Amino acid sequence: MRLGSRVWVTRDGRMATRTLRGFGMAIVMCGDDCTTEQKNSGHRCGDPQLSYVGAVLAKYEENHYDDSDFCALVWDAESESVTSITYASTRGWTYHNGATVDASPGVLAAAQVWAEDRWTAELTRRAEIEATIPAKGKTVRSMTKRGKNVGITGRVMWYGVDKYKSDRFVTYYRVGIKVEGEDTLRYLSADSVQVIDAEPIDYAAITEQAHHAARSNGVRSAYMSGWGSVMGPLPGEYPAIFRATADSNATN
Ligand SMILES: [Zn+2]
Repeated sequence: MRLGSRVWVTRDGRMATRTLRGFGMAIVMCGDDCTTEQKNSGHRCGDPQLSYVGAVLAKYEENHYDDSDFCALVWDAESESVTSITYASTRGWTYHNGATVDASPGVLAAAQVWAEDRWTAELTRRAEIEATIPAKGKTVRSMTKRGKNVGITGRVMWYGVDKYKSDRFVTYYRVGIKVEGEDTLRYLSADSVQVIDAEPIDYAAITEQAHHAARSNGVRSAYMSGWGSVMGPLPGEYPAIFRATADSNATN
């Protein structure tokens, strides 16, 4: 696709008929036919290649120690998902490259559905993990195979760090449980108890939350959601490097 085209087919299969003037549409990458003279002259690109027309959702910078990458989140019609394209970088000569947020209403709607699906999966995963954590107030059963705590059941009254077992890399937890008819708490490793009265997961509430998260945090956090650790960042808490230029309309 060449700069100057008046009609072209967008990634989502529609015909677009805008006139292209210079840079600032979708993703523009310097093509093979751009000459060294054109590159060195400071003039416009001799062979700009357009992609993801009408499908650029947001932009952001990834700032590394020595270099920066300029990335765009785009709607990929083929895989029906949001993906990231690095369109420019300080690692090489990319001055003819640029990106402009230009997502069409259809693309925005598809990306919203995609983001909601991502959040639903992520929030369900977190709720399922949450349900197994022996937090204060939950009833647990000891899973120990020997010793004085075999088979006991009680209510968690205390949950805290196991200072003896933990080191700088891994944090272990202990629970203090109240066994019916006993005056003092019994202390066990949190790993050796099982929650037996977990609240059922409220899937309707998760759907609602996912809808809200996708709407208020946009596609970036949904794109990030799969990258979090087990109890990774919640909506809106994605790393600062992804905040930089995202959603701005400026062209790099
Ligand atoms: Zn060029």
